[in-house]
Amino acid sequence: MKNRKISWLRLALALFLAVCFISPVSMGIVQSSPAVLTIVPDPGVPDIVLKHITTGGDLFSAMFKEKYGLNLEKTVRLIMTADRKGYEAAHVRYRGITPEQATRLRSNGMSIKNNTILLNGASDRFRSEQRIVLLVAHELFHKMQVQLAEGKGGARDYVWLREGGCNYFAAMVGEYGGLITVDQFVQEQLNTVKNTGITPALNRLLKHKGPDGWYKVRADGLHPYENATVMVKYLADNYGGHEKLLSYWKALAKVDRATAFSQTFGLSHDQFLAEFAKYYQKLLGGSIPVSVSETL
Ligand SMILES: [Zn+2]
Repeated sequence: MKNRKISWLRLALALFLAVCFISPVSMGIVQSSPAVLTIVPDPGVPDIVLKHITTGGDLFSAMFKEKYGLNLEKTVRLIMTADRKGYEAAHVRYRGITPEQATRLRSNGMSIKNNTILLNGASDRFRSEQRIVLLVAHELFHKMQVQLAEGKGGARDYVWLREGGCNYFAAMVGEYGGLITVDQFVQEQLNTVKNTGITPALNRLLKHKGPDGWYKVRADGLHPYENATVMVKYLADNYGGHEKLLSYWKALAKVDRATAFSQTFGLSHDQFLAEFAKYYQKLLGGSIPVSVSETL
């Protein structure tokens, strides 16, 4: 009787392990292959969303491996929330902010410490495969920036180059997956800037102090992400291509951002901003203040 009980227990354990092995979804965890992402979904996240997130992770790792021989060294934990409440709760839990602070969040997702990404299930980005892939690739590229800069990027980087760089490489991942081209994506960003009828206040965008200023610029409808994407595309097109951008983040591991910028692209950050402002003024019309300063 006792032996039979033990064999039943063994069988149950074997079945349990088999289920875990065959179907990680049943454990509330989804693994992309190769394991660039471990997805931890809240209850209520649709399977199709998880599928597209996995596609985003797979395309990201395939493209970086194929094009640049680069891999993310650590598997990234992705917390996929189902709704606004879940997103706020995730920020409280994983970032230690207060529930009151969480109510002010405006992001679609965020790359945070401990190799973790939080995604906002309430975002309209989750309505299409293309937008999900771009969002996942954007957040994963933040991890690549940290890896290339050996942990010395992040807050020490220019915010426009950091965020615009993520959008730019996310668009490349989308292009690699046949979902959009980089040119189409940048055109969309430009259209957003144009359609609002707001002359891009480039000067203000560039003079803001730190990430808080960046979000204030965003709240005021000046589209920092969209503008930054166009800036990075211009930088890549005119100063050595996307490989050069990767070299810049590598350089950040050794030197400060101004030195990394001029060493990599062959002109100073201020010179670049002045040149870009002229180009942008021509492209969009209207008046854009050209006096830029080294604060971004
Ligand atoms: Zn970002």
